[in-house]
Amino acid sequence: MHARRSRVIALSVVLATVGALAPLALMGYVSWKRAIEKELGVLDRAGDEAIARAQFTFSDARKALVDIEASDVARCSPEHIALMRMLTINTTSVEEIGYFEDGKLRCTSWGPTEGDIGKAHVDYVTPDGMEVTLRIRPAVTRGKPMLGLHLGSHNVLVTPSRFVDIGLGPDLSLALTNSEGQLIDGRNGPDVVFARSHLQDDTHGIDGSEMFATVAQDGLVAVVTEPVTNVYERLRGELLLLLPVGLFIAAFIVAIVVFFSRRRLSPRGELEIGIHRREFIVHYQPIVELSTGVRVGAEALVRWRWPSGTMVRPDLFIPLAEETGLIVAITDQVVDGVIRDLRSTLEQDRTLHVAINISAEDIKTGRFLDMVAVKLQKTEIRNEQIWFEATERGFIDIDAARVSLDTARKAGHSVAIDDFGTGYSSLQYLQGLPMDALKIDKSFIDTIGKGTATSSVTSHIIEMAKELGLFTVAEGVETEEQANYLREHGVTFGQGWLFSKPLTAGEFIKFHAASAAKHGRAAEVIRVAA
Ligand code: C2E
Ligand code: CA
Ligand code: CA
Repeated sequence: MHARRSRVIALSVVLATVGALAPLALMGYVSWKRAIEKELGVLDRAGDEAIARAQFTFSDARKALVDIEASDVARCSPEHIALMRMLTINTTSVEEIGYFEDGKLRCTSWGPTEGDIGKAHVDYVTPDGMEVTLRIRPAVTRGKPMLGLHLGSHNVLVTPSRFVDIGLGPDLSLALTNSEGQLIDGRNGPDVVFARSHLQDDTHGIDGSEMFATVAQDGLVAVVTEPVTNVYERLRGELLLLLPVGLFIAAFIVAIVVFFSRRRLSPRGELEIGIHRREFIVHYQPIVELSTGVRVGAEALVRWRWPSGTMVRPDLFIPLAEETGLIVAITDQVVDGVIRDLRSTLEQDRTLHVAINISAEDIKTGRFLDMVAVKLQKTEIRNEQIWFEATERGFIDIDAARVSLDTARKAGHSVAIDDFGTGYSSLQYLQGLPMDALKIDKSFIDTIGKGTATSSVTSHIIEMAKELGLFTVAEGVETEEQANYLREHGVTFGQGWLFSKPLTAGEFIKFHAASAAKHGRAAEVIRVAA
């Protein structure tokens, strides 16, 4: 039992721990996932915006190039230069337009050029045919490096930051490259090597300590990155939202585990398990004829045998079993036990009877009668060999009790009133009840020879039984003195340690065989009342 309890406790602790940790871990994981997804969403949107911005800048610049190429003014004429200047002013992205002839810069939006400035080397060509030079130092203004776009015989210079000019959080870095990974421009110090290894369109994720998102379109790639640690702030928000949910679920699970383990560990739970595992067995205490010492029967006394081997006495669980209604299932196991243990003994010796204690609940409903009938039907045991003992507690509903006892007797069973004298029953009250025997309670037998007030009650009780025309069984006979007294007062049968303690089935079968050899068989099963 101890082992079983500690198993239940251990299991409950494990279940409660897992039940508490699992929802918390799950919510932690979900929070992390959500935080990452949300943050990557931010990177995705920044990438989209960067691509849109770069495309706009390219097409803006291209439009200026196409316009100037299409004009038919004489090249490097004042009109041509004015047109280039006007396009420079009207096109936001474009800082300067230049005209080339025979590979040499002839004039720009600033005017005709002197000197020998050649066309810059081309880094790559856009899908729509513009030659791109990533770093050009403007020949005329000598300003900061510019990005050059060349179409036909004109080129435009664009400040690189125009391509990446978007609202970007301070923690985010952006690298805008062509599809080869050549940097057009970046923001917030991008790691170009990292960007080059993540050029594939529409991917996002975590690589090392960086989160990244890549958007690619028309030969342009935007890689937006951010340290993973930036997600912590967001994670805290998610946890704040989800951890209470996890805590709630955890508390709920723990409460359920506690509820069930407490129930399971409660005496009632133990009893239920005992019944479920059919741990109830029967011991048998011989009943003898006082005048001869001949064994006439036995009382079936239930024992709860725990897996540890401990035998639990009925006083410790019968009250609870009666209170909870579980007693009914125990009665079933007792009847099963009697049939299993003594079937052949009873079938071979018709003078032997076994008295089974019937609970108040059983008496009230009469349920046990059908149950016993069904179980006996499969055997050769006679109804006369099965007696029932009912205490006065079972007679609270006197009419129902009368029906049950009457039915039992009509079927051939004998009925004894157990613990007689301890209840409130008056003579008239008992007179109306169908019964065969009275079992005089041990407390009266105990007083015999002690000269106490109750000892005179004992003789009255014996007289009462005689008046009722019932035979009597004295319970708990421990001394010869008691046995003698009972014999003198005409008590028929005795049961007690003087004759035998309750025996296991095996012991009882041996006891029965020995007593049969000694005394011969008892007279046919005794039935006093008709
Ligand atoms: P009970 O029906 O009055 O059973 C007699 C009790 O007195 C038994 O205790 C028995 O072991 C004990 N006893 C017999 N002779 C002596 C003796 O000389 N000296 C002493 N000190 N005790 C003696 P047990 O087996 O512990 O049963 C206790 C009670 O549990 C029973 O009292 C009965 O009310 C109940 N019980 C036992 N088996 C069942 C059962 O199968 N069903 C139901 N409903 N109740 C049962
Ligand atoms: Ca009894
Ligand atoms: Ca009794």
